[in-house]
Amino acid sequence: MRFPVDLHTHTVACSHAFSTIGEYLTRAREMGLMMFATTDHGPALADGAHRWHFGNLKVLPRLWEGVALLRGVEANVMEEGGIDLGPRERSRLDLVLCGFHENFRSRGAEGNTEAIKAIIASGEVDIITHLGNPAYPIIPEEVLRCALVHQVAIEINATSGVNSRPGSHGNCVELARLCARLGNVVSLGSDAHIHFSLGNFEEAERVIGEAGLPDAQIINRDPLAVLEFLKGRGHDPAPLAELWERFSR
Ligand SMILES: [Zn+2]
Ligand SMILES: [Zn+2]
Repeated sequence: MRFPVDLHTHTVACSHAFSTIGEYLTRAREMGLMMFATTDHGPALADGAHRWHFGNLKVLPRLWEGVALLRGVEANVMEEGGIDLGPRERSRLDLVLCGFHENFRSRGAEGNTEAIKAIIASGEVDIITHLGNPAYPIIPEEVLRCALVHQVAIEINATSGVNSRPGSHGNCVELARLCARLGNVVSLGSDAHIHFSLGNFEEAERVIGEAGLPDAQIINRDPLAVLEFLKGRGHDPAPLAELWERFSR
């Protein structure tokens, strides 16, 4: 499998998604996916998960029948700045995704760029999701240079322009080309809202193919690359010791 890790999925904790964690785990085992992250929408979104959801992810297994499960969130850019999960919940998560969603009113390319750069610089988020969305224009090079300085990953989203965010494809190719040129860390997300879409990177693979982005820049190529990225981002490797051990072998 070219990309045996999926870092962006949603469950019934948000009612516009349709599968449980159990269904995702079973699907991952069946298809041979080695690792995935559960990353439900943050509480500020109308259909986001309650903050208790993020506080209680500790009940999930780290490893189930050989499949590694990371505990995450797709947090929201807030109108007042920052994201919609505090340090208490964040400290219980393995990774924090963040993107523009309906709770945020677009400020045009310059305003959106300032908002997302402030979040990247805050150190609170690890991966910026679906930046190619034409509903939230940005100045790509400014955002990507900021992400590079702070070692925050840029997501290429496999749902953008397919089931969501129409008109994203061209922007995503431009972003991927820039990532290739500048050397950004890149993350792939299926953004699955049903378990059948887990690990489906078709659109993302089209984007990186057109852009000529090498797999070496993409952390999903290897679960160990994901663990090393998270460690480099300041996440304590101790809670993931079981996974380090499994994938270091
Ligand atoms: Zn999103
Ligand atoms: Zn999502």
